[in-house]
Amino acid sequence: MKEYDYIVIGGGSGGIASANRAGMHGARVLLIEGNEIGGTCVNVGCVPKKVMWQASSMLEMLERDAASYGIHAQLEKFDFHELVTRREKYIDFLHTAYNRGLDSNKVERIKGYATFVSDRVITVNGEEFTAPHILIATGGHPSTMSIEGGELAIDSNGFFALQQLPKSVIVLGAGYIAAELSGVIQSMGAQVEWAFRYGRPLRSFDQMLAENVMEIYQDNGVQLHPYYVAKKIEKTATGYTVTFENDETLSAEVVLFAGGRKPNTSQLGLENTGVTLDEKGFVTVDKFQNTTADGIYAVGDVIGKIDLTPVAIAAGRHLSERLFNGQTEEYLDYDLIPTVIFTHPPIATIGLTEDAAIKRYGSEEIKVYRSRFTPMYFALSEYRQKCELKLICLGKEEKIIGLHGIGVGVDEMLQGFAVAIKMGATKKDFDNTVAIHPTGSEEFVTMR
Ligand SMILES: Cc1cc2nc3c(=O)[nH]c(=O)nc-3n(C[C@H](O)[C@H](O)[C@H](O)COP(=O)(O)OP(=O)(O)OC[C@H]3O[C@@H](n4cnc5c(N)ncnc54)[C@H](O)[C@@H]3O)c2cc1C
Repeated sequence: MKEYDYIVIGGGSGGIASANRAGMHGARVLLIEGNEIGGTCVNVGCVPKKVMWQASSMLEMLERDAASYGIHAQLEKFDFHELVTRREKYIDFLHTAYNRGLDSNKVERIKGYATFVSDRVITVNGEEFTAPHILIATGGHPSTMSIEGGELAIDSNGFFALQQLPKSVIVLGAGYIAAELSGVIQSMGAQVEWAFRYGRPLRSFDQMLAENVMEIYQDNGVQLHPYYVAKKIEKTATGYTVTFENDETLSAEVVLFAGGRKPNTSQLGLENTGVTLDEKGFVTVDKFQNTTADGIYAVGDVIGKIDLTPVAIAAGRHLSERLFNGQTEEYLDYDLIPTVIFTHPPIATIGLTEDAAIKRYGSEEIKVYRSRFTPMYFALSEYRQKCELKLICLGKEEKIIGLHGIGVGVDEMLQGFAVAIKMGATKKDFDNTVAIHPTGSEEFVTMR
């Protein structure tokens, strides 16, 4: 049986980062990946999503915004198939870059699906391997619909597999992936019907964000269907019809279900180990990413904590620093993690929502500052899309514990503010910072 210092199961964001860092510190590392290197982010997540968002933003600029600047551009052709081909070529380039990085850290690789034989031994393609340290970084997969005809809907993987843009799409789901893909598809020129279970989407985010998304999407032609819960999907001559619990129906060429993700834990042979799972199948870990089995760790989407690439990467690196570089107290702090949702326009968010802050500290301890304005980008246009920003401050010193924004450019505003907030910035620190004019981000340091 071949022995290593570290076996990493899953060559996605968390697994690659952890394997590379361990290799850098001289560990003999084996990385096992059953599919394409790069995992969800590179192949069917952040990367293709951002490419599609950028393409759809360019179309929006050309078709909606440019004329207000006297630029009368005629769109000759939008070739969706060419975009997809170029996107996939870029992803191939990333595969090569990841493999080069792993080579330079002497990380050995096997293609295949690993299963545990015991706490120390795993098997891949019929061969057994052992190590004192094994990382589970197997990520997750899209949930499926358990309704009649649910198998007729595509998921986000299916969206990235499309070679032609459908004329119409019904998007089912209220999370960030549903919000992003609804915006992308609509901005590319298809008709979107977006149906979700409750009164608003993005319910785990600050309410202000969902309210703006709904208003802007509606203005741009997305048909919103709150309180629509799908009951049945049927094939028709031209596409599909979805029947909802309220007996309303919607028809379109494609039905896209973006209703959450499940962990890749059921095929891992974890019953042969001391690893425990929570009731949803996610691996249980402590703050050091230790599972309940000695020498087995887990990072990334498989622990179901915060499903973001940089979170998986950071957790994987911290773990390798602890195991292979003597940093025995190192762990990832999951507090105050910034994130962007690539809606049209984007959303930027970090920290507590207004509701969560009031619930935790009481309304007398919380002060909220807001600013709503038309970005200068739309200054010459009759179309007056709004940007709305919010700061949530705690106590007398007004420590900033939440920052939320939606509008043109907020995606690139957030990272710097996140540093300040992570360092404990107060409203006064923001006020003491001279604004950059004319930008949207200056509103964050001039709010009254
Ligand atoms: C549509 C979409 C858009 C997203 N956009 C963003 C974004 O903009 N920003 C962001 O930060 N995050 C985004 N994410 C989330 C991000 O992709 C994930 O958080 C990240 O990929 C998690 O990394 P991971 O290492 O935990 O798992 P993954 O990247 O999923 O990697 C797990 C790997 O393990 C492999 N595997 C599974 N089981 C086995 C086994 N038994 N043996 C061997 N290999 C196995 C899988 O094939 C997979 O390659 C998006 C996700 C989706 C679906």
